[in-house]
Amino acid sequence: MIIDGKAVAQQVRDEVRVAAQRLRNDHGVVPGLGVVLVGDDPASRVYVRNKEKACAEVGIRSVEHLLPASVSEHELLDLIARLNEDPAIHGILVQLPLPEQIASARILEAVSPAKDVDGFHPVSQGLLLSGGEGFRPCTPLGIMRMLDSVGCALKGRNAVVVGRSNIVGKPVALMLLERHATVTLCHSRTADLAGEVGRADVVVAAVGKTHAIRGEWIKPGAVVIDVGINRLPTGKLAGDVEFEAARERASWISPVPGGVGPMTICMLLSNTLLSAQRSVA
Ligand code: NDP
Repeated sequence: MIIDGKAVAQQVRDEVRVAAQRLRNDHGVVPGLGVVLVGDDPASRVYVRNKEKACAEVGIRSVEHLLPASVSEHELLDLIARLNEDPAIHGILVQLPLPEQIASARILEAVSPAKDVDGFHPVSQGLLLSGGEGFRPCTPLGIMRMLDSVGCALKGRNAVVVGRSNIVGKPVALMLLERHATVTLCHSRTADLAGEVGRADVVVAAVGKTHAIRGEWIKPGAVVIDVGINRLPTGKLAGDVEFEAARERASWISPVPGGVGPMTICMLLSNTLLSAQRSVA
């Protein structure tokens, strides 16, 4: 069966809307997200606009800070410092990529870990590793939520994650481990990818290559989450998994588009709400 990312995302948004309303009624607090956009990259503008629209729909106040591409690192650090201090701002989002003259790592590290709703700060990464209470990155959180939405048992099951990036593969592997799955993390140097995937009860594909995961590799009954977003020559989007062949074998599989894609923004909303809730706890 198909894991409908749009439907799960809508459910998360509904939950966030209700909880944000409660926070406003009980504590007079409106969750606030500071969004920093540098330059005029059209794709980044679209992402930022979508995030703002999504915030408005669930009762999160988003405040956009548009800076010219010529901005200095110093000016940007100043803005981050002001957002860190602002009690009305609970989450800070710096839209990447940043222009060349700016060291992205330095900017991301300047964000207070208490407002790091993207979960990219080294402190957040460390807290994930040690099982502490930080912010988890949005795409891996969305993947876990999708698995939960179909009642996928994780304890004692073999989970194979393909891709070891800091934003998807590594954090999702840690989250699966935290839920007591036996986790294998594969990458471009993995010797027998077909064999590893073939043993998996749960497959998370985050490779960025069309059909890198062949349908015939999937163990019958496995749950498959396809994170890949690949643009085909026809202009259509495709995932990392050979969908039609894989769906013949999987018990649950997420499509592309309409799978993990819609989850990332809604987990950002969820993290911003969580930060606002922590501010009154
Ligand atoms: P990266 O390019 O950072 O990482 C890709 C990983 O895949 C690397 O670890 C690489 O291995 C591994 N890899 C590459 N080729 C192979 C192969 N043939 N066999 C096995 N492993 C391989 O990508 P991201 O993690 O940032 O993103 C992965 C995909 O997910 C992309 O398509 C991206 O667009 C999508 N994505 C979707 C999101 C969403 O839906 N909201 C959010 C984020 C990403 P090695 O480390 O050895 O190089």
